[in-house]
Amino acid sequence: MLTDLLEEAGEVAAVVKGLEGFKPPEKPKTKEMLATELSDLLYIIFVLAEHYGIELEEAFLQTVNDYMLRFIK
Ligand SMILES: [Mg+2]
Repeated sequence: MLTDLLEEAGEVAAVVKGLEGFKPPEKPKTKEMLATELSDLLYIIFVLAEHYGIELEEAFLQTVNDYMLRFIK
């Protein structure tokens, strides 16, 4: 699962590089392609969390709260 996650992260990176013009893509990258790759990555993250019995929504809300507190200071 971890290698799947890294593979999907690489696919997100490839689309972003294409959108930003860092790497001339073989075919133009689109925001729809980015949405698909981000969704693939999110799916793997959910699968990984489920495998380890992690309540991801609760952890995510805590992370958002931590970031908000960091930026409010
Ligand atoms: Mg993908």
